[in-house]
Amino acid sequence: CGIIGILGRTDVAPAIVEGLKRLEYRGYDSAGVAAVHQGRLDRRRASGKLANLEAVLAERPLPGAAGIGHTRWATHGAPTETNAHPHATERVSVVHNGIIENFAVLRRELQEKGRRFESETDAEVCPQLITHYLETENLSPAQAFHKAISRLKGAFAFVAIFAGEDDLMIGARRGSPLAVGRGHGEIFIGSDAYALAPFSNRVTYLDEGDWVVATRAGFQVYDAAGAPVVRKETISSAAD
Ligand code: GLU
Repeated sequence: CGIIGILGRTDVAPAIVEGLKRLEYRGYDSAGVAAVHQGRLDRRRASGKLANLEAVLAERPLPGAAGIGHTRWATHGAPTETNAHPHATERVSVVHNGIIENFAVLRRELQEKGRRFESETDAEVCPQLITHYLETENLSPAQAFHKAISRLKGAFAFVAIFAGEDDLMIGARRGSPLAVGRGHGEIFIGSDAYALAPFSNRVTYLDEGDWVVATRAGFQVYDAAGAPVVRKETISSAAD
């Protein structure tokens, strides 16, 4: 029910949890964080309160300066650790808010092509679909992401990070809000300006159907058809 993504300068898991705390008011039943470290994706997840996730992270810290986090309000699949986001393959890790209405059809299609699912969620089709396009069509991460979200029906927001790409974060908005915050050599993505307030007050809200490709140097927004667009940056006054 809440999303945070950070391309930072040091390990980002603690800042992601701080951001997730600012999204707690929306309600949630489980939480998780993923990061890219030395080219590899890893994640920590826990059912229940963010304190449970913090305990997991205290025991097994998650290194990496590019990361995503999620608080989940389960719609498809029980609020277990296995169903908690981020959902991932070896290639890509994804957090998702909302509902993918055609997930069952896509899941069957991907399973018939040999992809193995590990959760009961609608969300998991997203990393599986991106991975399918990365592997079978030799697309770039941005091309595979765009092709995957073009197949989805429903209302959602997504953020993804990729193995082998520690300076890349891609997000999309359709139905659920998503905002990008600019820092000094850092980029933040979050469900709202309030969640981003500790990190940045230079906030760009994506329009309906937009998706965004971010590196630490900056970001480019695209519309649903894939054309580059410029969205207005506002100076947020959300309380820090
Ligand atoms: N539909 C997704 C799930 O149940 C995401 C729910 C949410 O917005 O947190 O995993």
